[in-house]
Amino acid sequence: MNKDIKAYDSVLDLIGETPLIKLSTTTAHYTGEFFAKVEAFNPGHSSKDRIALHIIEEAERKGILKPGDTIIETTSGNTGFSIAMVSRIKGYDCILAVSSKSSADKIDMLKSMGAKVYVCPAHVSADDPRSYYEVAKRLHEEIKNSIYINQYFNELNIEAHYKSTGPEIWEQTGGQITHLVACSGTGGTISGTARFLKEQNPNIEILGVDAYGSVLKKYHETKEFDAEEIYPYRIEGLGKNLIPTATDFESIDYFVKVKDEDAAHMARKISQTEGLFVGYTSGAAMQAVKLLNDEGRFDKNSKVVIIFPDHGSRYMSKIYNDQWMQDQGFFDSKSTATEQHIEY
Ligand code: PMP
Repeated sequence: MNKDIKAYDSVLDLIGETPLIKLSTTTAHYTGEFFAKVEAFNPGHSSKDRIALHIIEEAERKGILKPGDTIIETTSGNTGFSIAMVSRIKGYDCILAVSSKSSADKIDMLKSMGAKVYVCPAHVSADDPRSYYEVAKRLHEEIKNSIYINQYFNELNIEAHYKSTGPEIWEQTGGQITHLVACSGTGGTISGTARFLKEQNPNIEILGVDAYGSVLKKYHETKEFDAEEIYPYRIEGLGKNLIPTATDFESIDYFVKVKDEDAAHMARKISQTEGLFVGYTSGAAMQAVKLLNDEGRFDKNSKVVIIFPDHGSRYMSKIYNDQWMQDQGFFDSKSTATEQHIEY
């Protein structure tokens, strides 16, 4: 008897259609119902798979990109990994210009996916020829048949989520979603998802999450860029020190800022209580939900969808490392120390 082979052509077929999972423990005492859109189920373990695939396939469709061409981006984070993964499968060279601040683990991850990594000095200004922005720009000019993804200023970043994340959430909630809570970095996720959801129901509230040390919330409220808002912070991938054009500020109703320490503890709590091993910004999004709940933003009929952007494995040497938590002073006021490490 001939049986059909049930196999995917490649991991690219597994991008998107991530599950919506009801939260119970963390939100037990909150008002409303809460659901996590868990983007770690993408094959590259983050929401950035969606934009990497969409931007690359749009370039192919327009005839800008042909096999053997080169894809360039400035990132050591999730976007870099996703672009490297898609490039590998589709037969492109991938060059990533990253800051020397990036951890060795992250750089090794990018190399494991076949990317060529330019490690550029972290201490120089953005317009210095050695900065990773300038290095990427120069490589793009020098390498014939290359494209520069430039996720912070690429409208296709928004479109990727408008076409996938938004419709998935609408379908998965049977159109009952009342609030979306999502982190804003480039702004692509929240803007694209919001645009789609607001077209279906303009009453859905779009709640953005920003970091202390970032300019986004203030800019949203005043339309002014306030450099005084900027200072170093720990959460990676959330907030920004410039205004990205991949953020549609009009589509966002309200921004909440969260603290590094609270977001780290919340991520650890989600892992420990929900059995969902999530990244730092998932903790940030959940901390925002806690603050919004305390403000009385939700009622008993609220159906709140929270985007969890990536997987906890990316943060083993940070928020899931007790020594790192200790070094940041995060164990001073409250503790999610596991007390599970027993030398015997
Ligand atoms: N969380 C993480 C871990 C990220 O890497 C990013 C992307 N910078 C975000 C959240 C925010 O997503 P977006 O860039 O679509 O705003």
